[in-house]
Amino acid sequence: MQLASDQYASGEQPEPLLRGPASIDGEYVVLDRGRASEWHPFVKADGIGRGDAIIELAASGSTPAQALKFVEGFGLLRKGSESADWRELLSVFQREASALLSGLSLYRDVRRASQDPGLLPRLREKWLHLGAPRAGLTFTEHAAVAVSALVTRGLVGVEERVLPVSNERELAFVSAARTPHLLGHIYHQFAIVMTGNVALRTCEDPACGRFFTPGDARQRHCSKAHADRMRQQRSRAARREGNQRRDDQSAT
Ligand SMILES: [Zn+2]
Repeated sequence: MQLASDQYASGEQPEPLLRGPASIDGEYVVLDRGRASEWHPFVKADGIGRGDAIIELAASGSTPAQALKFVEGFGLLRKGSESADWRELLSVFQREASALLSGLSLYRDVRRASQDPGLLPRLREKWLHLGAPRAGLTFTEHAAVAVSALVTRGLVGVEERVLPVSNERELAFVSAARTPHLLGHIYHQFAIVMTGNVALRTCEDPACGRFFTPGDARQRHCSKAHADRMRQQRSRAARREGNQRRDDQSAT
């Protein structure tokens, strides 16, 4: 999808974000401003940064190496065109990544529990720290209020925009945003996932488990690589079982 950049006034265009090589300096992750490049979060681009910042941030978080990879692909979280420096505390990065992951899990669990009330006891147990619901609210509603409040807080300073985009076949429109920083864009993506009822799944590859938005209803893995890996494992397991059965038969 390409931005139809000639077709709207430049004043309406959200400012680009910065991403690029970074390094660790003590407690900070530092973007190399001289080698950084601009990118538009509402345009799907090839190469580095491909994928959704929201999903990549939720999957990062615990190690400095993951922070560096994320900054290379998407940029620092709370820095924008107004910023005087291009460094961010690693602890900020880790805290935001874990808050986002927890928000996405809560959103997924609320959606599941609202479709299948049998999951409610597990939801209640997992999200004990949300406390007891206000009078008149079910626990699922209480959890829905909590995740809405979390995303609303993340949207502070974000201005909604509508932009024309085109692919080879047609012209369409996307909900874009003028955001003070990358984190604002990420919460704007979160709001679109929630309000657009976009499905959010976790990869069924046990070694992965990251969130993804399925391209079609049957997709069970975040990537083709993980779908292939699981298929190989299943067929190896089936072969082993087959061999086992033959061995058992020849033994009798
Ligand atoms: Zn995966």
